[in-house]
Amino acid sequence: MKIDSVAVGFLQTNCYLLCDETALVCALIDPGAESVRIKRMIDDSGCALRYILLTHGHFDHTYAIDALLRQYPDVPVYIHRADASDSHGNKLKFARLSDHNQRYYADGDTLALGNLTVTVLETPGHSAGSVCLLCENALFSGDTLFRMSCGRTDFPDGDAAQMLRSLARLGRLIGEYRILPGHEAESLLSFERMNNPYMKQALAL
Ligand SMILES: [Zn+2]
Repeated sequence: MKIDSVAVGFLQTNCYLLCDETALVCALIDPGAESVRIKRMIDDSGCALRYILLTHGHFDHTYAIDALLRQYPDVPVYIHRADASDSHGNKLKFARLSDHNQRYYADGDTLALGNLTVTVLETPGHSAGSVCLLCENALFSGDTLFRMSCGRTDFPDGDAAQMLRSLARLGRLIGEYRILPGHEAESLLSFERMNNPYMKQALAL
């Protein structure tokens, strides 16, 4: 397993490329902007793009999808149904793609990526359809868990109480994980359990 990343757009969203270097396949997580840089990251990996996976539907995590689908027209794009919109009306939700590309995932779903398995954890709070993605020792935490912080919950479908339940769920995962958040620097779950004030509050409830 190899993980590459680029920080894209004016909000510097972390876009990750999860690669199985033996099977030479990869999954792209949260392509928020700058499709040319993202495509270069995919090309440089030498892996074939199998999936686009979204931690949630906000535009700063999804904006480059239309441009990428022109390059990769057959790649499925997964999102939780609660963060997908059937219209372009709600700018905080992800506008539905054609049936050819649109897929939905929910808690406990797994996706095979070569010899790797990606597991979906529903972690609402930042948005109703926020998920985290687990693969071996990597936890792609979207805008749920940040290093020493968590995502904001003041959007219309955000929920601070749900956020605490989601942070507690992550904190109670057994073992150590590399935390790969939607913004800013990566971390370790053990560090967050000890030092993140929001996670500490959540784990004390
Ligand atoms: Zn967001």
